[in-house]
Amino acid sequence: MLQLTAENYYSLEADQEYMSYSQYKEFRDCEARAMAKVWGGWEEPPSQALLVGGYIHAYFDGTLKNFMVEHPEIFRKDGNLKAEYKVADKMIDTILKDEMCMAALEGEKEKIIVFEFGGCMWKMKTDVLNLEKRRIVDMKNISELGEKVWNNEKRYYELWLEAYGYIGQMALYQKGVQIAYNILVEPIILAVTKQDPPNKALIYFDDDRLNWELSQIIFHLPRVLAVKNGQEKPRRCEMCKYCRETKKLREVMHYSELYQYM
Ligand SMILES: [Zn+2]
Repeated sequence: MLQLTAENYYSLEADQEYMSYSQYKEFRDCEARAMAKVWGGWEEPPSQALLVGGYIHAYFDGTLKNFMVEHPEIFRKDGNLKAEYKVADKMIDTILKDEMCMAALEGEKEKIIVFEFGGCMWKMKTDVLNLEKRRIVDMKNISELGEKVWNNEKRYYELWLEAYGYIGQMALYQKGVQIAYNILVEPIILAVTKQDPPNKALIYFDDDRLNWELSQIIFHLPRVLAVKNGQEKPRRCEMCKYCRETKKLREVMHYSELYQYM
């Protein structure tokens, strides 16, 4: 199997050989889009929010200079940082000034871990791995601690943690570390908000919820792997950018069907 490094971790080859939590989430979101990304070379330009997250991460793992060279789009024409990254600087400052945040960030940064689980090889990269203190910490940047996201399928608002699948990610990462190191770590999320001044929180999860999240992954994984390996035909969500781009009309719809898009 491909030996993973910081350089090839996000490569197509790595995604083809390994499952990752973000790839799993892609498949759960839209199988057609996930397949187009893994095997078809279809790319989605990184969102501004993702880049801001990358900027903050780069600061804390000491690679901000490289990040700035690789992403000239974060600067305005006059050479100053764009407004979003000035906000990001404030978010970084907020973390730097808080003793508990800084203590939480102690440990090995951006550690690549591979492990076998549920019938496939996984790759994961945790922001902070601290085996001595038995914890992993992942940083998340959000608009506010109470950020709510509309779930169109379930027809209700969810907390950002649930909407973005972060609790499932924490459950999987805890399992991954346990398989790779035989150590049970506590997964913690360090959330920082884009408010002025930024808010912050260190968040932990109860075992019942983590176990439930893991059981969901075990339940859905066989279908995800069957699609990824070409044994099952990928389903289209008909909602995402990829599905819009590749949509071919085959019928006329009743006007009331538009409610599913609301
Ligand atoms: Zn789709």
